[in-house]
Amino acid sequence: AIRIKNWKTQHESGIDLVPSNDFSYYDQVLDMCLTVGAIPERYKPLQLENSITNQVLYFAMARGYQKEGIDVTAMEMTKWFDTNYHYIVPEFKADQQFELLSTKVVEEYSEAKEVGIQTKPVLIGPVTFLLLGKEKEAGFHRLTLLDKLIPVYTQLLKQLEIRGAEWVQIDEPILSTDLNDKDRAAIKKSIEAFKEACPKLKLLLTNYFDCYGENLELALSLPMDAIHLDLVRCPAQLDDVLNHKKLPDTMMLSLGVVDGRNIWKNEFEDSLGIILKAVSEIGEERIMVAPSCSLLHSPCDLDIEQNEKALPLQIKNWLSFAKQKVEEIVTLAALASGNPSKKELNALEQNREAYKKRKASPLIHKKEVNKRVEALKPEDSSRKSPFSRRKILQQEALNLPAFPTTTIGSFPQTQEVRKQRAKFRKKEISTEAYETFLKDETLKAIKWQEEIGLDVLVHGEFERNDMVEYFGEKLEGVVFTQYGWVQSYGSRCVKPPIIFGDITRPKAMTVNWSSYAQKQTTKWMKGMLTGPVTILQWSFVRDDQPRSETCTQLALAIRDEVKDLENAGIKIIQVDEPAIREGLPLRKTDWDHYLNWAIRAFRIATSNVEDTTQIHTHMCYSEFNDIIQHIANMDADVITIECSRSQMELLTAFGTFKYPNEIGPGVYDIHSPRVPQRKEMVELLQKAQKVIPADQLWVNPDCGLKTRGWEETKQALIEMVGAARQARNSVEMPVA
Ligand code: GLN
Ligand code: ZN
Repeated sequence: AIRIKNWKTQHESGIDLVPSNDFSYYDQVLDMCLTVGAIPERYKPLQLENSITNQVLYFAMARGYQKEGIDVTAMEMTKWFDTNYHYIVPEFKADQQFELLSTKVVEEYSEAKEVGIQTKPVLIGPVTFLLLGKEKEAGFHRLTLLDKLIPVYTQLLKQLEIRGAEWVQIDEPILSTDLNDKDRAAIKKSIEAFKEACPKLKLLLTNYFDCYGENLELALSLPMDAIHLDLVRCPAQLDDVLNHKKLPDTMMLSLGVVDGRNIWKNEFEDSLGIILKAVSEIGEERIMVAPSCSLLHSPCDLDIEQNEKALPLQIKNWLSFAKQKVEEIVTLAALASGNPSKKELNALEQNREAYKKRKASPLIHKKEVNKRVEALKPEDSSRKSPFSRRKILQQEALNLPAFPTTTIGSFPQTQEVRKQRAKFRKKEISTEAYETFLKDETLKAIKWQEEIGLDVLVHGEFERNDMVEYFGEKLEGVVFTQYGWVQSYGSRCVKPPIIFGDITRPKAMTVNWSSYAQKQTTKWMKGMLTGPVTILQWSFVRDDQPRSETCTQLALAIRDEVKDLENAGIKIIQVDEPAIREGLPLRKTDWDHYLNWAIRAFRIATSNVEDTTQIHTHMCYSEFNDIIQHIANMDADVITIECSRSQMELLTAFGTFKYPNEIGPGVYDIHSPRVPQRKEMVELLQKAQKVIPADQLWVNPDCGLKTRGWEETKQALIEMVGAARQARNSVEMPVA
């Protein structure tokens, strides 16, 4: 029903090429694994089991499987380019075989056709698919599998052609990254093979999130019927295509002018300028108007937002979600056609008005914030002493055992917790009743942590809906939606705050909860904050000033909170930055600039404390190998980091680089309901000790536990504490 509804919405709005294969039960990359039969060996028992359907196999790959004597781990998950969306990482072996295993793409195409909509099936291209995957054994490169993969794709394309497809969209967003000649040759080879196999099928090549850059010449040399440009992320690209690189006469251009990654209304004047320029160069028949990328990354519908307190009308009028973006696309196309209706001309007028109001709005700017940012000095982003000295002082102050155990912050957000929160929001229970409930949950969690013998405790984050939303709600310069959900992984969604103006922190945000929790125990309680880069990264961010500026403003707010926590007697403060890696630009030449301001922001947020106060940070679900130096430059005393799905692969890099500070490589995967065995964790810890000295190691899960249930959490953590004790017994620690 959802699939059909979404197609109809687009069709009825007037979109000509409605995409299909846009729906997924878990993830599009995982869908592709099933489509081409890239099923890792460990799921073979499931495939052989008669009672088990493809659906079960599919979710086993996504989430792991522990039933009927079968126990398999999930596949790895990582961030899709620079988004907060996680995809399942394909796994390849040297003798990898592919086959057309699932025809979901074809079925969806037919399903849409049955309700009268001729869609444009969308496929992740073979080179992006291969390059986003991983070799699971040494001695080969995954790109060499291309020759085996192409025939499966062509088989699929032929089926689509037979069923009547006219257009197929091939997504190769890998074109937004640094590619070498071999990668480029692979794209050429595959597209040429597709065209040869299905000469009548029209192919649209799509790239998004950045420029084609040095891959543009390749893109223009392919036998495509159209290529798509993300003109939001790379406006200069249009000139490159039109003037310098010569667009072949047969190729259409899809102009991605409506931002699929942000929620601001499209500025019609600007977009029309772009579209009309392209029209004047190559003619209207060769132009398509489109969003910059898939609308997966936008919330669904602004119209259903009715809570003016959370989202004041004035600000709502600056926004546009997926459904509105679809309308924007249609309106822009009509306006550019030179024959717009009255309705469309009205829309243009209203759009101008909304932009004029936004630009002049007094809600956005606060003088004192800019002054504070400008007054920042270099010493504001440095701790008092270097880590080597802090380590000694902290050991004296905190007196933790070897292999200290901790968790990442949240405990299960049970139905009961969510129910009480909903009641509180609807004013069905009083603030007092809600707080009593939360205190109770927190206390129970603390007592349980003491019982099983964890060393550094957390309060459990029961009072938080989401680690970014919670802070966003307490900061000024930010507004909220009620239904603006965006998919994060599987069926998990987040509701990003909307940063529309200068940021201030009217009062302390977490001190009450953290002090309450610390008072309940003689163990150390970690203060728990979300870092400035992650708040930025997981919000919809204003586009009227550089992101770096907004990030510094957030850093100052967190800095004040860190200080308040320290003053309240919290000795260990964790500032989560799981999103620091995903904010990294897709091309290496742009890395330094980003890393400079992002790392500085973290340091501004965390350096205003005594040497004895221990700063933790946490990161997850990204490939960190290539930015370790920068992670070290963040100078957190301890980092807890996701590692377990990749079997500690990451640590090799941390070892070679000699990561200077302390590190807790996650020893079990919390994004899966599977309960790990103690033995597995002991082995992971042994693996870790091969590359990182024992006195630098912490023991923890690889992320927060909010998405899990209590039963599995309890079992897993008891085993984890056991694993740490075993590690302690088997290692002689160097005397400090
Ligand atoms: N402290 C957060 C939690 O435990 C961190 C979550 C995250 O890394 N995404 O939920
Ligand atoms: Zn995490």
